[in-house]
Amino acid sequence: MKTVREVLADADARRVAVGHFNISDLGALKAIFAGARSLQLPVLIGVSEGEREFIGVKQAATLIKSIRETYDYPIFLNADHTHSLDKAKEAAEAGFDEIIFDNSQFPFDQNLINTKEAVAAIRAINPNIVIEGEIGYIGSSSEIVEVRPEASLTMSTSEEAVRFVKETGIDVLAPAVGNMHGLLKSMIDGGGAHKEISIERIAELKTAIASVGGKFMTLHGGSGTSDANFSAAAKAGMTIIHVSSELRLAWRRGVEEALKDSNEIAPYKLVAPAVASIEKIVIDRLKLFNSLPQD
Ligand SMILES: [Zn+2]
Repeated sequence: MKTVREVLADADARRVAVGHFNISDLGALKAIFAGARSLQLPVLIGVSEGEREFIGVKQAATLIKSIRETYDYPIFLNADHTHSLDKAKEAAEAGFDEIIFDNSQFPFDQNLINTKEAVAAIRAINPNIVIEGEIGYIGSSSEIVEVRPEASLTMSTSEEAVRFVKETGIDVLAPAVGNMHGLLKSMIDGGGAHKEISIERIAELKTAIASVGGKFMTLHGGSGTSDANFSAAAKAGMTIIHVSSELRLAWRRGVEEALKDSNEIAPYKLVAPAVASIEKIVIDRLKLFNSLPQD
């Protein structure tokens, strides 16, 4: 079976993106794995600091490893948005496949210094782990917000991307390209609004980082992106695409639906509609990331 690094290299060579989906319960994990498996595509499972505190850091690692080995399937675990070095080390020690060390809350130079230090500390624990660093501001949480944060409109430059990749030694760069975490209210109220990400900037950054041996890039905050932009982002050079808020919303709506006019108390039956709709979103998104026909 391919390692996570080989999976990323393969996606990069074919200009498709690996789907990254967050979980905080077994229902979502079941749905994401079933969706990816139905298409026979590799998949990354993400757990933020809050999500892994809920599941358990070691427990999350054990769970994903167990599925990978039982089904001989390329499913991998990422420590999503890890803001402290202690939490990054904890994830590395637990056996995570990827860690996003995210110090983008600091000014660029401080972010660079901290990330470089984190890369060394993480590699000392596991030299094979994939490490992602983040530049620019793309918002901080997978929630539904009224207005777009002003700072998220500023995009990362080629100069910043090159310097950051070269000096930190990260494997994957998460730049700001007009993307943001969470969903805007106008995206879910039927108005059909979408996030405007810059495909041109993605292509520019991809070319720029290649000059210093940089390969992989991640699109965060994929929820609410138009279908055409998802496929275009992968083709332009995004190697990983994150989707979380859409799954959270589907979970909530599914559970609300199940609770309506029902006396059911079995949790696994109550989450069944949510699991089904999360699986459907995962399949739809993975098809777009891989430019496969939608049906
Ligand atoms: Zn993110």
